[in-house]
Amino acid sequence: MNTRRDFLQKIGASALMLQLANVTSAWSNTPGDSETLYDGPVLRVAIMGLGGYATIVAKAMETCTRAKLVGLISGTPSKMKDWQAKYNIPDKNCYNYQTFDQVKNNPDIDAIYVITPNALHHDQIIRVAKAGKHAICEKPMALNAKEAQEMIDACKKANVKLLVGYRMHFEPKTLEIIRMRNAGEFGKIMFFQGLCGFRSGNPSQWRLNKQLAGGGSMMDIGIYALNGARYMIGEEPLWVTAQETKTDTVKFKEGIDETIQFQMGFPSGAVASCLSTYNMNNLDRFFLTGEKGFAELQPSTGYGPIKGRTHKGELVQPEPTHQTVQMDEMAQIILEGKKPIVPIDGEEALKDMKIIDAIYSAAKTGRKIDLKS
Ligand code: NAD
Repeated sequence: MNTRRDFLQKIGASALMLQLANVTSAWSNTPGDSETLYDGPVLRVAIMGLGGYATIVAKAMETCTRAKLVGLISGTPSKMKDWQAKYNIPDKNCYNYQTFDQVKNNPDIDAIYVITPNALHHDQIIRVAKAGKHAICEKPMALNAKEAQEMIDACKKANVKLLVGYRMHFEPKTLEIIRMRNAGEFGKIMFFQGLCGFRSGNPSQWRLNKQLAGGGSMMDIGIYALNGARYMIGEEPLWVTAQETKTDTVKFKEGIDETIQFQMGFPSGAVASCLSTYNMNNLDRFFLTGEKGFAELQPSTGYGPIKGRTHKGELVQPEPTHQTVQMDEMAQIILEGKKPIVPIDGEEALKDMKIIDAIYSAAKTGRKIDLKS
């Protein structure tokens, strides 16, 4: 997205709506608070893939109450040393991509967070499951629905949990819109628009390599519009249509979509119209309208602060660091069986992968794809 930035924000006291009450604990996450107030279980996490997003997650975890970075998996020894020094990680909790199966003998690591290029998620998550550790996977969960199902099956077989890094599922303004929708404040939902994109930079990056990325903008940023359509409307789509356009065939090669527009129809009659692109900036906007009111978020999925308003006025919920809240919430889901307001498990991500498969198929064939079967 066009704002890959890390926002560390202090939050103020706020009157929080009832539906958000169960995530408030994660917002008061200054280190002092966690030392003095929290004495419960802590999820001990190893991160696999020490790249750009892992750097943001690790920094955000410094202010977590319930999750702690305790291990590293990397193929680059120099990076490992830097991270070990920065986060005080002992040698015994460090692995490379050949040795990380041995984590099964390490009682000091509970979960592994896979933050590597998309094409690696499938095999790596299955190895994590076989090592008996809980698995957290970045989005997109896999390259397609078949892979996603295999990952779910492996985690079930190993009796470990599988969660996917949908950080917006814990974002306060997003959750307020969902609360308002559930309370009927928008009336019957009629329409959602999701615009997600940015101009992709370096042409040699893995995101523009079909083997590693599995696709183009749709896998990376369009998934936010798709997932957003589902959680903003609160239903599962029945059909999808899609159109792909490409203006730069040198940078965006075969199999790497530059821009995809897609539309979805939902059981209530609501429709969604979404745009996913790697070639336009200033696209980070959600709009939801119903018979009685509307909501808009802009930016809607960047790292924050998320801004928005509804027909009732400006949204004023807190603006915590997304990844801090996400990891504290994931710790409670894994360790205490907490149920999130919007699901964050493998089954939830599988739904996105099935629709992405259909979007690519619709764009290729020009056909409307039935999602019911
Ligand atoms: P990145 O290129 O910055 O980091 C990828 C890491 O994987 C690097 O450390 C690299 O060394 C390592 N790696 C291991 N094997 C590799 C291989 N064979 N080829 C290339 N790199 C290899 O990428 P990133 O931006 O951190 O993205 C990683 C994952 O996180 C992707 O799935 C991406 O979609 C996801 N992501 C999610 C968010 C979010 O907000 N949830 C944001 C950014 C990225």
